[in-house]
Amino acid sequence: MRDVTGSFAHLLGAAPRACRVCGCTEHDACLHPGGRPCAWVGADLCSVCAATIATIMQAVGCGGGAAERLLRDLIRIETERTGMAAPEFRRLVNGGARLH
Ligand SMILES: [Zn+2]
Ligand SMILES: [Zn+2]
Repeated sequence: MRDVTGSFAHLLGAAPRACRVCGCTEHDACLHPGGRPCAWVGADLCSVCAATIATIMQAVGCGGGAAERLLRDLIRIETERTGMAAPEFRRLVNGGARLH
């Protein structure tokens, strides 16, 4: 009998924790405006995305699910336009505030 679980155990164990919206990880974190790095607010949701979703919910008056879909669309458009990954794009946009 082949031990399939054993052969893939190193892959499962090495799976990095990533944000389900922007895809940032422990080693590729995004930044809040002002330059503070993001933190985990859920199993797979970072604090920058959570804050942005809350802002969209207030601005648009929609629920969390709809706000998350809007944010995903916004991130997809921005990353396609700039050719950057979402965490990289946010470091540039939000982290730039430190320079002022
Ligand atoms: Zn995120
Ligand atoms: Zn993040």
